Amino acid sequence: MSTYIAPLRDMQFILNDVVDLEAVCALPGNEECSVELVESILDEAAKFASGVLDPINRGGDSTGSVCKDGVVTTAPGFKDAYALFRDTGWNAMPFSPEYGGQGLPAVVTMAVNEMWKSANMAFALCPMLTGGAIEAIAHHASDELKQKYLPKMVEGTWTGTMNLTEPNAGSDLAAVVTKATNMGDGTYRVTGTKIFITWGENDVAENIVHLVLARLPDAPPGLKGISLFLVPKFLVNDDGSLGARNDLICASIEHKMGIHGSPTAVMSYGENEGAIGYLIGEENKGVSYMFTMMNHARVNVGLEGVGIAERAYQHALWYARERVQGAIVGDKSGIKKPILHHPDVRRMLMDVKARTEAMRTLAYYAAANIDKAHAGDAAAQARVDLLTPVVKGWSTEQGVELTSTALQVFGGVGFIEETGACQYYRDSRITTIYEGTTAIQANDLVGRKLAREKVPGAAMKTLIAEMSADADAFAGTPALANIAGNLKNGIAALSTATEWILASYEANPQAVHAGSVPFLKLTGIVAGGWLMARSAAVAAARLEAGSDDRFYNAKLATAEYFATHQLPFAAGYAAEVTGGAAATLGLDENLF
Ligand SMILES: Cc1cc2nc3c(=O)[nH]c(=O)nc-3n(C[C@H](O)[C@H](O)[C@H](O)COP(=O)(O)OP(=O)(O)OC[C@H]3O[C@@H](n4cnc5c(N)ncnc54)[C@H](O)[C@@H]3O)c2cc1C
Repeated sequence: MSTYIAPLRDMQFILNDVVDLEAVCALPGNEECSVELVESILDEAAKFASGVLDPINRGGDSTGSVCKDGVVTTAPGFKDAYALFRDTGWNAMPFSPEYGGQGLPAVVTMAVNEMWKSANMAFALCPMLTGGAIEAIAHHASDELKQKYLPKMVEGTWTGTMNLTEPNAGSDLAAVVTKATNMGDGTYRVTGTKIFITWGENDVAENIVHLVLARLPDAPPGLKGISLFLVPKFLVNDDGSLGARNDLICASIEHKMGIHGSPTAVMSYGENEGAIGYLIGEENKGVSYMFTMMNHARVNVGLEGVGIAERAYQHALWYARERVQGAIVGDKSGIKKPILHHPDVRRMLMDVKARTEAMRTLAYYAAANIDKAHAGDAAAQARVDLLTPVVKGWSTEQGVELTSTALQVFGGVGFIEETGACQYYRDSRITTIYEGTTAIQANDLVGRKLAREKVPGAAMKTLIAEMSADADAFAGTPALANIAGNLKNGIAALSTATEWILASYEANPQAVHAGSVPFLKLTGIVAGGWLMARSAAVAAARLEAGSDDRFYNAKLATAEYFATHQLPFAAGYAAEVTGGAAATLGLDENLF
């Protein structure tokens, strides 16, 4: 088995040289942050990820969480690891100092969170969901609820969950039927069943704060009739101490394909007198509040694609250096060499490495824009809105492909559980489904973020213009010529597909949506290729200036690989978008 080693050099490079951490640290509110501080935070996080989270990842998979009579026992080592995670302050890192957080920028949290996800994705889901719940409460709840719940949640003593899904309400939240009744005393009674609730019940937290979507009796139908409630496992007294157990129970946990360490609960609310809940914000506005939580979670699930691909890559590389098999084509030395020397094994490893770096750069770039948006930069907010479904959809789809490629490096033993390669593949498979499937992300991208944008296509066209200016600038540098050429072709494909969507959406939305997932992948490849080109430009300049740091050669090599092997797919995706609908939709339903 390999041990997870955080790719600190690449993380630091992206933070400092591509997304300008220094500028983020200079934003109002980030005064405490500095490049040096971030370096030491990343070093400590890397130790925690390798030393605490990685060693319990396999047990989390093989033993998993178990549920008996509504009580969940998490996998071996998870409870202790969580206690250490909480006590060493990792949970509090991104949140406002007003509630005990450390207020570090999103881009720093992004790099640290990647390490948690690589080392132990099932574990990392717990703080991820708590973080989303904190964001929703902080933005939309009353001061009283904030004061009562946020300090303990920020500290990590209480965890948080997100309760949207019901048996008949998954992608379509308009179908939510969980009920809430106003008791007239500032409380509501919640009754209903929620399914698939991540870390919905656990033994690591003293209290669990559930955010639950439910409908009031007189609420209008559809999305405009859903409210958001805070429903704690234990009621909280005015002095902050824990009171009576609320009327909610974990009915069971799911037996899943992966992330066995993460308890996925069926939650039953109000089997007796009704679970006591507190309204967040105003009645019937719950879905918009939940979007605060979901947008946070979507970028973070995209990051799961990055983290799990990185972990699978490291594991495959370890094996490729160990395993000796067959003669290396063209090698006349007569010396047996490891499979790393087979050209096709090199191809697989380059593929996983280069595409993971591209995803990482895009995720951190989005996070840096989140920081700028928090400081009031409207253009950065528009970029975040545009890229959120891309980071989520593209990175997770790639995560599944890349963990599969990494498994292939192992040959037959890759298919055998003991090697551990299976786990990354199985764990990655959920990422394209929860927090909105890839189709839901793609609908968001072509709909709200493009065709139905206030000025249709404005955010995408601004991005395209910025990428084009860079491609033109890079074309003059010999070391970047091929990268710039392929990037230009990719941008042209994205531009053609964008114009086609804008022209077709109103008259033929079915045709546009038939190609929405290819369009999302097209956007991801071109944006990822652009940021890899920016990385290559920095590396080329450093080498030109006389640096002998071989990291820069490696960065140029991965950027070259991405440009040569990934950017050409842009044209194929664009063709699918603009000319593929008839073939997708043409088959008579009875002929399927
Ligand atoms: C392990 C796990 C953890 C989860 N954690 C949570 C959690 O913490 N909280 C929570 O509330 N939920 C959670 N979920 C639920 C998850 O978010 C949903 O499963 C997901 O959103 C999909 O909904 P669904 O399962 O009902 O599938 P469906 O909505 O029935 O979708 C089935 C298929 O139809 C497609 N489809 C549906 N609608 C459209 C559309 N409009 N356009 C195009 N295609 C469409 C989908 O893409 C999919 O391929 C979790 C699920 C799992 C498995």
